[in-house]
Amino acid sequence: MAEIDCYIQRKTMLYKTGVEYGDYTMNFVQGCSHGCKYPCYAYLQKKRFGQVDDYNDWCKPKLISNTLALLDKEIPRLKDKIKSVQLCFSTDPFMYGYKEVENMAIESIKKLNAAGIKCTVLTKGILPISLAQLSRDNEYGITLISLDESYREKVEPGAAPYQERLAALKALHDVGCKTWVSMEPYPTPNLIEQDLQQILEAVGFTDKLIFGRTNYNKEVSSYKGHKDFYNKLAAEVISFCEDRGIQYHIKDKTITEE
Ligand code: SF4
Repeated sequence: MAEIDCYIQRKTMLYKTGVEYGDYTMNFVQGCSHGCKYPCYAYLQKKRFGQVDDYNDWCKPKLISNTLALLDKEIPRLKDKIKSVQLCFSTDPFMYGYKEVENMAIESIKKLNAAGIKCTVLTKGILPISLAQLSRDNEYGITLISLDESYREKVEPGAAPYQERLAALKALHDVGCKTWVSMEPYPTPNLIEQDLQQILEAVGFTDKLIFGRTNYNKEVSSYKGHKDFYNKLAAEVISFCEDRGIQYHIKDKTITEE
């Protein structure tokens, strides 16, 4: 287990996001030990605005120590406006190996659920089975863009191994929780040659799939035929989901016209 060695305070916690499938979100950690190299959009933004110095600084998570006090203050004011809260947008709520982050995520979800607010969780860590005891309206998701551990070590060096991630999600599914998988940022074949069908089969038990291309990556945009590639794969995802009655969402700009 890893220890948090830096705590910071914030003035606000819940905010409305502009992302495609989001409502409200909260980020109770600054930085993320998963250190994704796609690159991570949150890292690029924080670096641009001077909130983190460099990649190493980003990878040392700083816990927002007044998270629960902020929620106590903000939930009564916002609860009628909020449809759902996503944990998280610019960090990971179940950061691999950080028990203190996990505990804070669970306590936050409990507070939101107690006010009748549903939570949507997305992680590259391990979803604890104790989540099954919380509101059954919650939705629990993992990101999964490959099944190849050597690729995971290269692009998501601090995140949980794929099979561990999947097993935790499946365990929640098996006890009746709503589960989903984000297949984003999906890589082009010049990054890794892989079989989409194999990945789809591995996640075929979930209730919902999100599929999206890799952005902000020169190797991807310089891959000849990347538009055709994403169009073809998006069609495969849609057909797979329609055959199995799985909900799906294809992220903006993943399907493009020639
Ligand atoms: S898990 Fe998310 S927030 Fe963390 S480094 Fe990866 S992309 Fe960024």
